[in-house]
Amino acid sequence: MPELMRNAPIIREIQVRSILSKSNLPVCEYSVNPYTGCTHGCRYCYASFMKRFTGHTEPWGTFLDVKIWPRIKNPEKYRGRELFIGSVTDPYLPQEEVYGRTRELLLQLKGSGARLSIATKSDLVLRDLDLIKSFPDARVSWSINTLDEGFRADMDGASAIERRFAAMEAFHQAGVRTTCFISPIFPGITDAKAIIRRAKNSCNLIWLENLNLRGSYKAVIMDYIREKYPHLLPLYQEIYSRGNNRYWEALDGEMRAFAAGEGLDYVTNDDSMQRPFDALPVVVNYFYHEKIRKSAKRNEDLRIGSLQRKEGGENAGIAGSGGR
Ligand code: SF4
Repeated sequence: MPELMRNAPIIREIQVRSILSKSNLPVCEYSVNPYTGCTHGCRYCYASFMKRFTGHTEPWGTFLDVKIWPRIKNPEKYRGRELFIGSVTDPYLPQEEVYGRTRELLLQLKGSGARLSIATKSDLVLRDLDLIKSFPDARVSWSINTLDEGFRADMDGASAIERRFAAMEAFHQAGVRTTCFISPIFPGITDAKAIIRRAKNSCNLIWLENLNLRGSYKAVIMDYIREKYPHLLPLYQEIYSRGNNRYWEALDGEMRAFAAGEGLDYVTNDDSMQRPFDALPVVVNYFYHEKIRKSAKRNEDLRIGSLQRKEGGENAGIAGSGGR
């Protein structure tokens, strides 16, 4: 069974014209989100800006739209194309166990030759291992930003960390490329080195992404730090109120040296490096991709505006994965 929901969400089924959206993201050609809304309830989620496009007035995390789409026509036209499943919200929410829209998507695309990239915080994806494995070059990533289950439970309502690792190991053993997405890195809390040591034999890629605080959840996180980690508050104020990047620069240097010591390649803003499946993972640092994200988001905002007009207000496909 997947994780328990924090609160029962408002669920409705909605009809959409198409489930695949052309994407301007550098990482994929199409973004696919079988659900609108996300019930993992991460405190640091920045996908809540999606509400601007979907007309929801409920707080982010309390609603879920289950998308129903016409069967994908000529799926073989996606042969060799990069499809990013879960570019905005998790495709393996607990409700997927009931509604099965992500599984339905995979079934409709089966045999098409599309290249899948799936982002999740759940081990429910194990259910679809055989199906995912049938796609060429499939890749599944799990966000893991702590080994401390208490902190994890404070931050998200998704699968326990060990269950994410177990899923990653199962996929890797089955020959599917896996990514450990160490995100978001909380200054002074996330032990990225320990996570890398834990993950490095069961993944092909390791991404590092810093915590960004903007919008309404900035106050939520600062209050949390004030309450639970008061000794870190000056550091957080320095980074998030005064815009001081020295912490990230120092961590970048530290992680580079650490990766070298572990025999891992370390690159910045580039996940194009391919290794044989059994080689150690490459560590990719995304600390400095804010500008890239902003410009991708601007492009996506423009695109969504036009899709909304075309599809009567419903679509998805935003850069960011909500902080996942
Ligand atoms: S960060 Fe991602 S997984 Fe968490 S609530 Fe937001 S969209 Fe969902």
